[in-house]
Amino acid sequence: MKNKKKVEKLIKEQKLKKEKKTNKILFSIFIAFIFASIVFNSVYYFGCDIKCYYRENFLWDKEVPRNYVCMNGDKHKLHETKAISISNNIFYVCSNECAVEIKYHFSKLAYSKDALTGKFILKSNALVGFKSKNQSDVVYFENKKNFSNYYSNLKNN
Ligand SMILES: [Zn+2]
Repeated sequence: MKNKKKVEKLIKEQKLKKEKKTNKILFSIFIAFIFASIVFNSVYYFGCDIKCYYRENFLWDKEVPRNYVCMNGDKHKLHETKAISISNNIFYVCSNECAVEIKYHFSKLAYSKDALTGKFILKSNALVGFKSKNQSDVVYFENKKNFSNYYSNLKNN
């Protein structure tokens, strides 16, 4: 009689242990699911910010994609900018206001100094780069050589 009770008790304990284990696994899956959905949502909602941050910090000595630049304010933008054609030159702007600005102040806004040589160049033909690390300001270069010299100068200083 005593033995039977003992066995029953043992079985009950084992059952409880198993249940606890299953609960633990379920809980882990639940946490993992919550975590995955947080990561997914962050990438979905902050994807642009993450990309923007990544470019300005890690690709700052690489060419800036023209379609992420507003050539009116000379800034690297969070969202893709749009191309506009002014007398057969393609410029990229973030808004209609910026497009109008360039159109009506063409002689002032369509040109920029080459950041290395200071020569005036048309932004639409120029290579676009970051002014410095961790900044959204962009500068323009006449050619690839000026571009790479500018950044090796920056790195050596
Ligand atoms: Zn703009």
